[in-house]
Amino acid sequence: MKRFTIPRDMYYGKGSLEHLKNLDGKKAILVLGGGSMKRFGFVDKALEYLKEAGIETILFENVEPDPSVETVLDGAKAMLEFEPDWIISMGGGSPIDAAKAMWVFYEYPETSFEDIIQPFSFPTLRKKARFIAIPSTSGTATEVTAFSVITDYSNGVKYPLADFNITPDIAILDPELAETMPATLTAHTGMDALTHAVEAYVSTLNSPFTDPLALKSIEMVFDYLPASFEGDMEAREQMHYAQCLAGQAFTNALLGIVHSMAHKTGAIFDTGHIPHGCANAIYLPYVIQFNAKNAEKRYGDIARYIGLQGDTDAELVVALCDKITDYNKKLGIPLTLKEFGIVESEFLDKVKLISERAIEDACTGSNPREISVSEMEELFKCIYYGKKVDF
Ligand code: FE
Repeated sequence: MKRFTIPRDMYYGKGSLEHLKNLDGKKAILVLGGGSMKRFGFVDKALEYLKEAGIETILFENVEPDPSVETVLDGAKAMLEFEPDWIISMGGGSPIDAAKAMWVFYEYPETSFEDIIQPFSFPTLRKKARFIAIPSTSGTATEVTAFSVITDYSNGVKYPLADFNITPDIAILDPELAETMPATLTAHTGMDALTHAVEAYVSTLNSPFTDPLALKSIEMVFDYLPASFEGDMEAREQMHYAQCLAGQAFTNALLGIVHSMAHKTGAIFDTGHIPHGCANAIYLPYVIQFNAKNAEKRYGDIARYIGLQGDTDAELVVALCDKITDYNKKLGIPLTLKEFGIVESEFLDKVKLISERAIEDACTGSNPREISVSEMEELFKCIYYGKKVDF
């Protein structure tokens, strides 16, 4: 038996934050990141709406980027004291991810990270509270996914939590929040969304339920990302929806090795931290060349759907890779790891390690083509030097 799960309700459109005034409940905790939502006035607005709904609200602020175990436990403690019936998280991926994990420890204070590290092993939530996610960036789609990543800084381990229990009940997609994104973040998060949709479409777990979401998302990213990057707010709104469609696809179909590779290379090089979406954007065309041996038809479907020309699937795969490369150029994203600025000697020192780690990543299992450590090393070298993948 298979399962397809997305939030029960989505509210979207300019000003949809206003939905907060329609909530039924007594108490809410609003989980926030570093302060941009406050600065732009969205926290005050949210508090006003919640007051109108007769809901008493407290704030939990300053969730850091890549949220820590400590922050999650602190948040859970605040929830245990205040006993909210709504958990509302607003901001980028980090506060929303953190709030999802806090929710688990609020409802089950006796549980531990070790207990929930096994995917899809969570206890049943919603005994105490329901969950609303309000994203301010357009990429991670954590507002509709079953995932959360929490870091244990004491041992450098990232806990990728996965369970449909933490899929939010309500997602509010108010594009006014996304208008605050700087251009580079818009480019990186947009390419992250494209990667989610492409990987979900070719995943071994793709389904008739996820395919249309992935295809439509890909079409919308290609249509709207460049203008959104240039600051066109109508396009920015469409990107906010496109990334959410991609999220609905990949929370159910999972991802592939572009993400495995990005996860293990983001923070490993002393000569450069590679932002998640930027890493995905660089790796995607090379991974498509590698995966095409098994998934040529699926990539061909994508290319046909967005109107690319080619007589065979092989030609369409080339056209799709060219299109992605073209977008990277337009968005100021480098085409190779060398161009990104990773120093060659450090890359060569670490390529075996990152290859081994990437193979172990949770996203590798649903990639359409199996890959060995030595093939992964070759693939990384193609990405470093900008060589065509022909194995
Ligand atoms: Fe991603």
